[in-house]
Amino acid sequence: MEKSKFKTRTYSYNSLITLKPNTVVDVYGIVKFHKLPFKTKGTDYLMIVTIVDESLIQADEKLKCLLFAHGEESLPQVKIGSIVRFHRLRVNLHSGELQGSSGKGFSWLVVDSRSDGCLVPKASSLNYTFTDVDRKMIERLFCVKQQNQEFRCQDLVKSLEQLKEGIYFDFVCQVVAVSVVEEGVCFLIQVWDGTRPSCPLFTVEAAERNLIMQTDMELRKVAKDWLVDVCVFDDHFQKAATIKPGMFIKFFNLHCPKHKTPDLVNPPAYEELELVLHRGTSYGRGIKILSGTDPEIDNLKKRLEELTKKVERTHTSLTDPKGSPYKTVKGIKVKTVIQGHQSVKLSHFCDVKNATAPMKFRLLARVMDYSPKLSSVSDFLSLFCLQCHYLTPINNYNLEPSTFQIKDGVEYYRCPHCAKKTNSNDIPVMEYIFLMKFILTDGVYYIIANLWRDEAVKFFNNITPLEFISDAEAMNKVRGYLERIHSSEGSSQNLPMMECCVKSFTGHNSVCYEIFDTLIAA
Ligand SMILES: [Zn+2]
Repeated sequence: MEKSKFKTRTYSYNSLITLKPNTVVDVYGIVKFHKLPFKTKGTDYLMIVTIVDESLIQADEKLKCLLFAHGEESLPQVKIGSIVRFHRLRVNLHSGELQGSSGKGFSWLVVDSRSDGCLVPKASSLNYTFTDVDRKMIERLFCVKQQNQEFRCQDLVKSLEQLKEGIYFDFVCQVVAVSVVEEGVCFLIQVWDGTRPSCPLFTVEAAERNLIMQTDMELRKVAKDWLVDVCVFDDHFQKAATIKPGMFIKFFNLHCPKHKTPDLVNPPAYEELELVLHRGTSYGRGIKILSGTDPEIDNLKKRLEELTKKVERTHTSLTDPKGSPYKTVKGIKVKTVIQGHQSVKLSHFCDVKNATAPMKFRLLARVMDYSPKLSSVSDFLSLFCLQCHYLTPINNYNLEPSTFQIKDGVEYYRCPHCAKKTNSNDIPVMEYIFLMKFILTDGVYYIIANLWRDEAVKFFNNITPLEFISDAEAMNKVRGYLERIHSSEGSSQNLPMMECCVKSFTGHNSVCYEIFDTLIAA
């Protein structure tokens, strides 16, 4: 890698804890924070990089460095966790703390590991030195990085399918369309990364707001099922306004908060998150336009190219990718599918609450809770008399007096209710059924919906109560299905999403709801 035609200079690198004021040093470090370059009051660009090494981490300290350059492109492109080498860094005391700054003869080198594990050094000059000493320094810092959670967690969220409420993350994507929402204040960037968001995301509804979208129609045709809206504010407006459809960009410190609905008169059917680049530049917040050859977009380009080929091949949108355990409704991952009724418009929960029974609805909902819980076979199943509609849990000890018969090792009970009304021996045998109650919610409203008999069998992908009794495997499957749609851990907005058909009917004294034509996505 020796690019210098001159005699190789040798450098010695000291640990950062040993630095003294009023010196010029050669150092290696890991980027802990950085701010994207910004224009100073003069003609220069300034970027701030805070670095650490093993010695500073142990001392819980860091070194802030101010790097100046005439052009933005002359400054290192770093991310949190990048390994940097600074030659001829000036070290001075600033408000009682050591601070580094670029001075005469300053040069930098940045090393990031690509997804394939290769190290990619980039440097401020073409003829930089790179020796075994450098290789060893970098290897050591990579180990330090691996051992420190703060550098590792930066790599966790890489795509939309890993979104979680409240996170800040760096996001690489391709721009499909852009629009001014409010001059100087808010700019809308529609992007895709070829994955679907793990939760419903707020959309700006550009058409309804008469926004003038600048878009690449060819790209849009392919990407339309994967598009998400990112709103950038204030300080980032100017930069965003230079972004064109087709470009690859990277958001730094993008926030994924819960979307706040301005009025609750007509709340959404489900809670939405949104993607926002807030004002200010702390923690490196900003947008960077990436070159088409940037190694950081290698994987993204591959993924998007494959999707493009698929879409072109099928000439249809891929709303139902094969092999995915989820089905999607407008880009939302759901754990259930509905049988037919796909063309029925999704209803809001408030409409369900206000409608007169009987009525049928298609809903997006989360399961807040359900009962009974699957602790044992007898707790989970019920008995039902087809003739008089008598319904009882299996563990009802009142069943004792009534006669029962055993077939295939399964005990059948005669209906105690019918038995009281007749003296004949022709008492109906009760049927084993699933009978469950689900509390469904959109985050604002909730309904209690029953699921039972044939619709429950359909729901559990054709597992019948008899199979459930006699086959441990079937019981495990049902347990798995229930875990998929409801986990007791996590907050309510992290609960999985279900698409379901619900019908209302008038019960004894109130409106009741029943789930139908809905099944767990296999
Ligand atoms: Zn009966």
